[in-house]
Amino acid sequence: MAGVIDNIIACRRALDEVSDSVEILAVTKNHEASVANLAYEAGIMRIGENRVQELMQKLPMLNPLYSIDLIGQLQTNKVKYILNAVSRVQSLDRMSLALEIDKRCKQAGIVMPCLVEVRMDKAEARAGVEPDELADFIKEASRLRGISIEGLMAVMPIADDPEDVRPLFRRMRQIFERERDRAIDGVKIECLSMGMSHDYLVAAQEGATQVRLGSVIFGSR
Ligand SMILES: *Cc1c(COP(=O)(O)O)cnc(C)c1O
Repeated sequence: MAGVIDNIIACRRALDEVSDSVEILAVTKNHEASVANLAYEAGIMRIGENRVQELMQKLPMLNPLYSIDLIGQLQTNKVKYILNAVSRVQSLDRMSLALEIDKRCKQAGIVMPCLVEVRMDKAEARAGVEPDELADFIKEASRLRGISIEGLMAVMPIADDPEDVRPLFRRMRQIFERERDRAIDGVKIECLSMGMSHDYLVAAQEGATQVRLGSVIFGSR
C-alpha cells in the first residue's frame, strides 16, 4: 500500500518525459476508500469510479477534496443517484442518457460536465458514439442546458503491444481536434481522456490530456 505514492510519482515522471500537461485520473475501482485516499498525498485531485453502487458505498469514506469522474457505463435509472456524488460523467455514450442527465440536472439546478465517449474498439460491445456521428451528437447535446460537453473519452482495445494501438490514439486525437475547432456556441472541448495502465505513455505521446490509471497505481485486483 505504501507503494501507491511511489507508483504515482513514477507515472508522473514517465509522463513528464513525454508531455508537459497530462493529468492523471487515478482509477480507484475495486479498491477501498482508504487506499484510494492515499493518492491524494501524491497530488492526485481527481479519481475515477466505474460502478455507481460501488461509488455510493465508498463515497462517505472518500476524501471530500477529490473530484470524482464516473468512467463506467451509466444506466439511465441510476442517474439520479450520482448527481451530487460526481463532478463529471466521462461515459456519455447515447442521447437517451444525455436527456436523462439534462432533465435531472435542470430539476436540481445544476449543470453536469460530461465527456462524450467515442467508440474506438470495434470488437467490443462497449458503448460509445461512432466517430462519424460525433459531430451531430455534440451539436444536439450542446443544446441541453443541464449538461456541458467538455471533451472526449475513449477506451481502446487491449493489445499485448501498446504500439499496436498507437494509430487509434492518433486517430482519436484528430477527432478531438476536429471537434475542438468546430466552435459550437457554449461548447469548450478541452479534455481528451485516453490511455490506461498498459498504454498510457503511448496515449500521452499521441496527445491525451488525461490518462486513466488503475492497476499501475493500485495494483490489480
Ligand atoms: C478500469 C478502467 C481504467 C483503468 O484501467 P487500468 O488498466 O487498471 O489502468 C480506465 N478506464 C476505464 C473506463 C476503466 O474501466
